[in-house]
Amino acid sequence: MTVEEKIEKISKKISSKILFDYNLKKLNWFNLGGSAKVFFKPDNLNDLVLFLKEFSSNLPIKVIGAGSNILVRDGGFNGVIIKLGKNFSHLSKLDNGTIVSGASVLDKKLSDFALENSIGGFEFFSCIPGSVGGAIRMNSGCYQFDVSKCLISIQSIDYKGNVKLLMSKDIKFHYRGSNLPDDLIFLSATFRGMQNDKITIQKKIENFIESKKKSQPSQIKTCGSTFKNPLEQTTKKVWELIKESDCNKMKVGGAYISDKHFNFFVNDGTATSLDMELLIEKVKEKVIKKTGIKLDLELQIIGEKN
Ligand SMILES: Cc1cc2nc3c(=O)[nH]c(=O)nc-3n(C[C@H](O)[C@H](O)[C@H](O)COP(=O)(O)OP(=O)(O)OC[C@H]3O[C@@H](n4cnc5c(N)ncnc54)[C@H](O)[C@@H]3O)c2cc1C
Repeated sequence: MTVEEKIEKISKKISSKILFDYNLKKLNWFNLGGSAKVFFKPDNLNDLVLFLKEFSSNLPIKVIGAGSNILVRDGGFNGVIIKLGKNFSHLSKLDNGTIVSGASVLDKKLSDFALENSIGGFEFFSCIPGSVGGAIRMNSGCYQFDVSKCLISIQSIDYKGNVKLLMSKDIKFHYRGSNLPDDLIFLSATFRGMQNDKITIQKKIENFIESKKKSQPSQIKTCGSTFKNPLEQTTKKVWELIKESDCNKMKVGGAYISDKHFNFFVNDGTATSLDMELLIEKVKEKVIKKTGIKLDLELQIIGEKN
């Protein structure tokens, strides 16, 4: 059976939409890249389970969240892109410090919800423009906080359609990642914070946002930090290494480096993904030549070159 025939068969059994050749440009912060061969936005868990159980093919599967940390190549993604739909955006309070969040909830919403319920420990989420699923995958964080510090458990599903509960204590988190397998889609997560008064929480959020405003550009097409800070090799931050290596004014086509934060690479509106990738490669090359330090990507590149 062809992919098209399989999709047609599945489509008859579910209410969620499955689309072909779906352009991914609007689904990522760079506004770059080609189309997904198959794009599936499950509205609910039943449809997702059914899809994963019945869609067996050699095509790769990739889940995306808010697209604030992905560079989609110009040739698009020759596989299935899954983006969780409306029933994955629930938020609820279990007890005084515990919150359950759907994976497609935006981090800012989670932070707002914690504030409304006087729960501290979620303030850092207000500065991260992704979704809860993406934040778990990336162990996102800032100002000494990250997801691993408040996560209790994750409800997930593997690409074969098996739902699994994962306890945070069994997961090895590290800076911007973990040992969680790639073939897992996070569905929801339970987090624990602590009761605090709203004014203190609000102040902390404002301070974080203020610090971000001072150090990071806004209103631009970027995916935030391009490279991880090479913590094991130097105490210097990536932006310092980029500056030291004279890369901060580098440009390829419409891809350039923000002059406010040298680890933020930007699409000026005319860039292609190839421009961005070439800029990334050039910076890597220059930095290793000048400092001996090999930079690792923080953002995720997906898809095929044209
Ligand atoms: C302006 C700006 C500022 C930023 N500041 C910070 C910061 O301070 N700290 C920080 O850590 N990051 C920061 N980021 C990066 C980014 O916001 C985070 O990495 C974010 O958590 C990514 O979430 P997302 O939903 O956008 O994921 P996406 O970009 O859509 O995907 C990122 C990865 O997560 C995976 N993923 C997404 N959803 C799921 C899911 N449901 N299940 C399993 N895997 C999933 C994807 O497969 C991919 O591998 C910034 C980005 C921008 C644009």
